[in-house]
Amino acid sequence: MDRTEILNEINQQVSVCEKCELHFSRKKAVPGEGPADAQILFIGEGPGFFENEQGRPFVGQAGKLLDSLLLEIGLERSKVYITNVVKCRPPGNRDPLPEELAACNDYLERQITALNPRVIVTLGRYSMTKFMPTAKISEVHGQSCWVKGRLIAPMYHPAAALHQPSLKPALVKDFQKLPGYIKLADDHSAQHPCEPESPVEPEKHEENPEQLNLFQ
Ligand code: URA
Ligand code: SF4
Repeated sequence: MDRTEILNEINQQVSVCEKCELHFSRKKAVPGEGPADAQILFIGEGPGFFENEQGRPFVGQAGKLLDSLLLEIGLERSKVYITNVVKCRPPGNRDPLPEELAACNDYLERQITALNPRVIVTLGRYSMTKFMPTAKISEVHGQSCWVKGRLIAPMYHPAAALHQPSLKPALVKDFQKLPGYIKLADDHSAQHPCEPESPVEPEKHEENPEQLNLFQ
């Protein structure tokens, strides 16, 4: 199967999934969307009201902010892949529970393997924690670190910036670093080509002052 077929298969399985309680209250599951050859993956938290209605990620207010953040850095939404750590809406937009995150994780893992993105942007705490279990978002937002050969860039969630306007300037500033991170990851993968099945752990990139190394 090529990656388009794998992603389609995941979408199909998510749309009928009953692996956690969230399936009882969802209207439409939201597997994620974007081109199969996307180099950048955005991972949010979970569908909200409008996402649950439409079956598409980031189409409500937070999505509008995400669209404008992308526009501002010249990154077309149609060129990136967007998904969430849980694919069904937690009732009343509550936080996803550990058992829901665990049940849904396999879909995200398979999406990452199929896409093999060079850069993963995590939006909010839950997707950050997947890659940086001990990090605090207030300390690491806007920085980046290598995890399993991919550059992970944690950002505040757009919805957090809507609820707490004081976070918005940081979110805007952090997004402005993304083109640099994409270039860094591109240059790196030109030197270290890797197969989708076997991402390599790159050496440290000391030259980037924004980069964290969580493995020290
Ligand atoms: N917030 C998220 O985390 N994901 C969406 O898809 C929409 C809002
Ligand atoms: Fe399945 Fe994930 Fe939806 Fe739970 S949240 S029912 S694991 S697709």
